[in-house]
Amino acid sequence: MFKKNLTQQILIAMLFGGIVGGILNFWVEITAIHWLINNVLQVIGQVFVRLLSMLVVPLVFVSLVCGVAALGDIGKLGRLGGKALLFYLATTAVAISLALATATVVAPGQGYHLETHLTYSVNTPPSIAQTIIELVPNNPIQAMAQGQMLPLIIFSLLFGIALLMAQDVGERVAKVFNDLNEINLQIVVIVMKFAPIGVFCLVSKTFAVEGFGAIKPLLDYFLVVIVTLLIHAFIVYPLLLKWLAGLDIGVFLRKMHRVQIFAFSTASSNATIPVNIENAEKNLGVNNSVAAFTIPLGATINMDGTAIMQGVATLFIANVYSIHLTSGDYVTVILTATLASIGTAGVPGVGLVMLAMVLKQVGLPVEGIALIIGIDRLLDMLRTAVNVTGDAVATVILAKSESALDSQVYLANNNDNHATS
Ligand code: ASP
Repeated sequence: MFKKNLTQQILIAMLFGGIVGGILNFWVEITAIHWLINNVLQVIGQVFVRLLSMLVVPLVFVSLVCGVAALGDIGKLGRLGGKALLFYLATTAVAISLALATATVVAPGQGYHLETHLTYSVNTPPSIAQTIIELVPNNPIQAMAQGQMLPLIIFSLLFGIALLMAQDVGERVAKVFNDLNEINLQIVVIVMKFAPIGVFCLVSKTFAVEGFGAIKPLLDYFLVVIVTLLIHAFIVYPLLLKWLAGLDIGVFLRKMHRVQIFAFSTASSNATIPVNIENAEKNLGVNNSVAAFTIPLGATINMDGTAIMQGVATLFIANVYSIHLTSGDYVTVILTATLASIGTAGVPGVGLVMLAMVLKQVGLPVEGIALIIGIDRLLDMLRTAVNVTGDAVATVILAKSESALDSQVYLANNNDNHATS
């Protein structure tokens, strides 16, 4: 009776972590509490994030090679890549347009008392030209060591294509890769067992440090971002799933809980890749040939939640500084935010770097970011959950269009079967 399945355990750990963290925040000045946060919660939480991150490179490489081998046809790969790119860019553009629309109606930041002496030092995001050059790794081992996702994807795709072309030899090597893939997924299962405690520590540490006090002066900005994230996740995605794939969203959302909690607690789409791939294949019924490609790609280039934050933040900062944006500026925001998402990795806080790029493009003061930075971590957690949901939605829709979706597995009530075994 008390034995809960893994997803329920993780969910409880997250809620409990939020409550414990919120309480600890009141006593954060006390030395023992400070020690607990930095030496227990922080250490266990970071060990957990590293366990997940550790898996990303081997999993992406091996499973992408298996995926290409399973497709068996280079033409199919090109078609899938083209569709994925189009879908990702289109949904990001929709997300940011939605954010601009909501923020225009609500106008967060109007009448806000501007604090002076704000500073924010800008990390320059990569230029489009640099992003294109760096798609091709100089050295694949270096790309792996540095966890550079797009160069790693390019190398893995080429390796997979060569494997297909090598016929008999390729078939032998493909078998080895399939076995390695199975082993990698078993490591995911092991790491999952550690998830409730890891999630508890990550969430309680964040809430203990951030508290809720910082939200109050920025409540309108905070709420507009959250409402838009919810609209995107619960209205736009379901409509896409229904229209483009004729699928039931209830099933999808139920099976996404665990992935969303991982994204929420790590604030990193990259660290969530292993869990998202595993869930897509085992619970949603997506063939490895699609999931292995679209999920790592999406973690890097598809950030709908981040785009939403950027749209609302741009208008918020414009309102605070009483700067009027023209419709041309709106178009610039949509284009810049959509393109900026291509070259930036899905790691915590990267959305702010992209925001700096957007603000510069429309001539808004980049120091305005200092206004919202205090509550960014909490929003980062939420938008990352939306980002990974978007990757999974695309994966399911593309799988359906490529006849690579097993509807029986999609509909089956099999969530957790593998993880608790
Ligand atoms: N943390 C987000 C992600 O990993 C990116 C961001 O919005 O900062 O998807």
